[in-house]
Amino acid sequence: MDIPRIFTVAESRHRIHNPISAQKLAELGESLALQPGMRMLDLGSGSGELLCTWARDYGIFGRGVDLCKLFTEQARQRAKELGVEDRVEFLHADAAGFVEEDTVDVAACLGATWIGGGATGTLALLRRSLKPGGILLIGEPYWHRPPTEEEARGCGCSASDFTTLPELLRSFLDLGCDVVGMVLASPDDWDRYEARKWIALRR
Ligand code: SAH
Repeated sequence: MDIPRIFTVAESRHRIHNPISAQKLAELGESLALQPGMRMLDLGSGSGELLCTWARDYGIFGRGVDLCKLFTEQARQRAKELGVEDRVEFLHADAAGFVEEDTVDVAACLGATWIGGGATGTLALLRRSLKPGGILLIGEPYWHRPPTEEEARGCGCSASDFTTLPELLRSFLDLGCDVVGMVLASPDDWDRYEARKWIALRR
């Protein structure tokens, strides 16, 4: 059970498998006012950078679930490196339908919302693991300008796969969630994320 090998190879050198810098990831954690002892769930946790660094910096406890064996091993390794292996746990499993028995303070899915069938479905899935008043974190692409079908095909998707940012935020409000923070990927973040795949694929 694993993700298609092309993704594992292309992103074998990524610590963060998303167009977000280490600095922005830290800023995001900082903006959530995390307290020591808080519990967190991360679906599609990749190589574990979010949970490991936030466990180190804020003393949270976390569980990550990811379908990629290599990324999960890298996450466990990273936890050891940062000395937080007693606070974070990484499961190699399909996260579709995954719900925590003990509800958590923060439930996240960054750049893997197909796990719940899209941003809205993933929000509903994460909510099942969330304490009342807890925080949901969703990482999702959006269009700066809705593309033609042909342009979207050039990005390997369909125009209807994503919405604009105002529409995305509106969909969260429509589900009864308040939007309390936002960190946006810049063109630089996208370039770094994409270009890092090239050397991995070449090697
Ligand atoms: N959130 C991480 C990883 C994002 S990349 C980060 O920001 O670094 C998307 C991740 O989703 C990959 O690690 C991939 O292995 C994982 N994934 C894809 N399908 C999945 C599934 N059904 N269940 C769990 N993880 C999945």
